[in-house]
Amino acid sequence: MSADPRLALIGFRSDESSSYLKGAAEAPPLIRQAVFHESANPWCESGVEVGRSRFHDAGDFGEAPGRDTRATIEAATVALLEAGYRPIALGGDHAITYPILRAFAKRYPRLSILHFDAHPDLYDEFEGNRYSHACPFARIMEKGLAGRLVQVGIRAANPHQRAQAERFGVEMIEMRDFRADRDLKLEGPVYVSFDLDGLDPSFAPGVAHREGGGLTTRQALDVIHRVGGPIVGADVVEFNPKLDASGLTAFAAAKLVKEIAGRMLAGPALTPPLSQRGGSKA
Ligand code: MN
Ligand code: MN
Repeated sequence: MSADPRLALIGFRSDESSSYLKGAAEAPPLIRQAVFHESANPWCESGVEVGRSRFHDAGDFGEAPGRDTRATIEAATVALLEAGYRPIALGGDHAITYPILRAFAKRYPRLSILHFDAHPDLYDEFEGNRYSHACPFARIMEKGLAGRLVQVGIRAANPHQRAQAERFGVEMIEMRDFRADRDLKLEGPVYVSFDLDGLDPSFAPGVAHREGGGLTTRQALDVIHRVGGPIVGADVVEFNPKLDASGLTAFAAAKLVKEIAGRMLAGPALTPPLSQRGGSKA
């Protein structure tokens, strides 16, 4: 029996680890609204319908004094994975990706991460914070939570981050070397982590760290559509509504969510791990 994968949307209203400007915590309801907006039909480009009924909506999780935000994010993600969902997380800043990946690593030990960003987010620590939104991929790689990390759209790497990439074997594809038709050879289960500042600020102005010379929305979608392996989870992060006067960024985020969801539904099936393959036929 092979049913369609079941998708879940979950919001993490967290920006306590943002280094420059807060505001990303306000993003999840706005992205959700844009995903299901009446101005667009619910079909994605591959011909799959991704309307509201295709998602389990797990709601939003916020920050609260005395609450361990990372533990909350990890536990909420574990719950969705245990229930058999492929979660799409709406940020929040990029710090949410580390606890999400802690949950994923338990289920997918050799996960490949496809990471879109202007920044490598590989700082060992940033302004004294090891869990800053500038650090998640350093934590992920040093804990061995991914088999591969492929970064796309990078245009703000400094010597420290280049050394970190070298140390962790990160495949950093800088924007100046980007070619849309490059085969990233992403087989096996894939997790997509999408920082909206990977897009050019003209396509997604609502981000705290605007770095010119970025990806067009089309280029990013082409990379996502060409992922070979099953996409088992994703996050779309760093949307800052305070800087999105036109509302353009919410819709760019929504387009990414819809196309990632479409790829989850229409992409290759997930081969169950050996330990979960039953020998008996009911
Ligand atoms: Mn970034
Ligand atoms: Mn980032």
